[in-house]
Amino acid sequence: MDLRFGDSQPTDDERAAVDELLGPPASSWEGAERTAENLRYSRGGHAARDRRDLLLPGLHALNDRIGWISRGALAHLCRRLTVPPAEAYGVATFYALFSVSPRPTTVLHVCTDLTCTAAGAAALCAGLESRLEGDDRVTVRRAPCLGLCERAPAALTIKAGDPARTAVSAPATVEAAVLAATAPDSAPEEPPTEAAAPQAGDRRQTGAPAPSSPPQKQTGLPAPPPLPPQKHTAVPAPPPLPPLPLLTRVGVVDPSSLDDYRAHGGYTALRRAFVLGPAAVLREIVDSGLVGHGDAAFPGGPDPRATPIGLAWRAAASRPDHPHHLVCNAGGSGPGAFTDRVLMEGDPYALVEAMTIVAYAVGAPHGYLYLRGEHPRAARRMRRAVERARARGLLGDDILGRGHSFDIEIRRGAGAYVCGEETAVLRSIEGYRPEPRPTPPFPTQKGLFGRPTVVADVETLLDVLPILTGGPAAYRSRLVSVSGSVERPGVYELPSGTTLGELLARAGVRPDLRAVLVGGAAGRFVRPDEVDVPLRSGVVIAFDGTVPLPRLLLRVAEFFRDESCGQCVPCRIGTVRQEEALRRIVDRAGPAAADDVALLGEVGRAMRDASLCGLGRNAWNAVESGVERLGVYG
Ligand code: SF4
Repeated sequence: MDLRFGDSQPTDDERAAVDELLGPPASSWEGAERTAENLRYSRGGHAARDRRDLLLPGLHALNDRIGWISRGALAHLCRRLTVPPAEAYGVATFYALFSVSPRPTTVLHVCTDLTCTAAGAAALCAGLESRLEGDDRVTVRRAPCLGLCERAPAALTIKAGDPARTAVSAPATVEAAVLAATAPDSAPEEPPTEAAAPQAGDRRQTGAPAPSSPPQKQTGLPAPPPLPPQKHTAVPAPPPLPPLPLLTRVGVVDPSSLDDYRAHGGYTALRRAFVLGPAAVLREIVDSGLVGHGDAAFPGGPDPRATPIGLAWRAAASRPDHPHHLVCNAGGSGPGAFTDRVLMEGDPYALVEAMTIVAYAVGAPHGYLYLRGEHPRAARRMRRAVERARARGLLGDDILGRGHSFDIEIRRGAGAYVCGEETAVLRSIEGYRPEPRPTPPFPTQKGLFGRPTVVADVETLLDVLPILTGGPAAYRSRLVSVSGSVERPGVYELPSGTTLGELLARAGVRPDLRAVLVGGAAGRFVRPDEVDVPLRSGVVIAFDGTVPLPRLLLRVAEFFRDESCGQCVPCRIGTVRQEEALRRIVDRAGPAAADDVALLGEVGRAMRDASLCGLGRNAWNAVESGVERLGVYG
């Protein structure tokens, strides 16, 4: 790829994809025919850069329409946005969903991450590669986590065109995934979102146990019969749950209907916020003790449990430099984390309302919702919710006649776990490579486009609704996504203080439990006899003995090597060395593995001590706990 403007020209389709997004070019500086008028001035400075943030949407437009991003297409997009081609190339090649090499119009992404690996992803991939070999319409791509862990193994078809088509196969079989890849329009519908929230529906009021059958499979086959009583008796039966503020509408409300949302209590919180005023809203949030959950699978930065998030939001609100911004980051979930998807699919208007309230409190006239490119249903529902709210005067100017203006722009990520880091997601929205930057200054001081910015995850924002309707004491639960070796995988809402063992009992842990990974890929393994501890993470993956633990550790290492942004040496080199060592000893133990186990410790400590962001600092956690707690290579 020539990283300067060359002679390559876009095809008509490529030109149309870009121009539909940006509008027709206004001058020859943007790629239109040259006129005498254009020769009298030159563009530069702010005027040339102020549309840089449209680079990622422009790359999506090309990838959606054509299936890959050619040299001519990239050059055209760069001219339109006045972005140096070398920089745009660096952005395009950062993301897993884009390609700058020709490929078939249909890409079948097959998840090979932890939960899917435990559910047979290797055999699924092999079967698909064999069935689709020689089919030049489809390419099979082994993908990092697709965030469909409760229905593992998972596959996602993206067929380029106008419009692009998507189809999710989960749980995927070779037949179902081939059908989705070759005819995405006739692939079966995904199961309803409430299947991913075992507490959804009437049970949330009574605390009665969830049904023992897993979600209906996409194949249309009947659910398997209930399993016999579990032999895993180390944990007591779970107590009944109190009412669940965050999942209360999932499975109850029609996610496409604003009227239904209002009929179920929607927009009560916003009305109260307008009565209270911004300062009092922030006071209630501070008094509740609400803490940021961050991305449940992307730890790092200051301990989010250490400081009530309302204090940071208040600090942002008081900054004199305007405009302030609000960013909802639903874009960086890692293996085992799918809470954001379930919330956005099941209760999309709640997120619109919560963002409106927080924007009102911090004085932000504009908000960005950054969500994963791998979650087409969540994107569709959120887009519709934003449009409906805008049409009904609940976004835009003078919301509810109270003089407050706020609107939401949806931005799709394109497959980069590091975007779970709060400074990385800002760089992604701005149109740069999403490389984390050192803090301070924190985003609340200098964030999006250099302005004070509140960055919050979906769950933290939704927590604001019960706080405003029920008072500060209403904040008392948190969400956990559970997958792997359990009978009822899904998102659970649990009171604070719930133990890991209680959660596993509620989810129906299987009797041959071998290990539990708490915190996703960046978390730590615990043994089955160590589960009587309070839950401190929103991601739990249970493993039985079907996949050897060394294979799981190697998959964790592959994930971090793949997802490292490469900006700092300890992480860039350390994740590679970690993977190499684990690959060498994947079939060894004892003295035969001792040298590499020692090397893993050295490399891990270097990553933990010297990496810039939470990705590198936590890349050794799972391996360390696997070695020390589970005795994987002993
Ligand atoms: S720790 Fe890794 S992901 Fe984070 S900035 Fe450094 S290289 Fe990038």
